[in-house]
Amino acid sequence: MKRVLSQSDFDRFAARSPAIARHRMIAVSVTAPSAEPFELPAAVATALARPFRRIVVFSGAGMSADSGIPTFRSGNNGLWKEFDPQDLATPEAWRRDKETVWGWYEWRRGLVSKAQPNPGHVAVAQLQREFGASVVTQNVDDLHERAGVTRVIHLHGSLFAARCFACDEPHELGMPQAEAHRRLMPPRCARCDDHVRPGVVWFGESLPEEAVRQASTLMRQCDLLLVVGTSGVVHPAAGMVNLVPRGAPVIEINPQAGQRSSRIDHSLQTTAAIGLPAVLRRLRAPA
Ligand SMILES: [Zn+2]
Repeated sequence: MKRVLSQSDFDRFAARSPAIARHRMIAVSVTAPSAEPFELPAAVATALARPFRRIVVFSGAGMSADSGIPTFRSGNNGLWKEFDPQDLATPEAWRRDKETVWGWYEWRRGLVSKAQPNPGHVAVAQLQREFGASVVTQNVDDLHERAGVTRVIHLHGSLFAARCFACDEPHELGMPQAEAHRRLMPPRCARCDDHVRPGVVWFGESLPEEAVRQASTLMRQCDLLLVVGTSGVVHPAAGMVNLVPRGAPVIEINPQAGQRSSRIDHSLQTTAAIGLPAVLRRLRAPA
């Protein structure tokens, strides 16, 4: 069976990395409006010193880490401390105990609803307004949308796009419950009466075809790619980055040093909340 990476993969990856853990503590201060100005390295400033018409932002878990969304590592999740997230993110888990799985995703939706977009999300929205940038994300939260981005392509689905387990009918979710419940009965489908499932991609499931098609087209046509908060070496990021035409700069923004795609031209080792506003400032004044 093809294994597909989900949000929880990245969360577990982050849980193993002291660099990310440190970065998470710093993130609280950088989300303040008075984020310190960040000087772009000269090579990056030079690479950005021309007009771009088809900018794409590709974001991963690090983008939302700056908004204080916690990692979902096992042993640190309060109500769910004895669960491995991987055991809650599969079709088998759903068939076995859908109330626990639904409770887990509704808890996460509640956390995301309380989080705020960070200056990185705001900079991405400005990149779209001012330069027509497109946004492809591996994140299942709605922080890009709440910062004002329209048409976000979600490669791993969304916590806010629930649908019927049996017939795929979309289901509108209300406000998340204020209090977390470890077990919660999922709502029923209005069309076929089966249960509604989270709209995220689980382990063992394929990525949504239409989202992959749209994202691939954007990558093939882009003239500047910003890879934010993901290493760019794991599926699906790796495949996407490799579609970018030669000659189009690929700039990574990620506080974590480590393995990175050979297609990446420049790495800014900083958070999304600091790196993206710096890139925006440079694009506004390219000369
Ligand atoms: Zn249905």
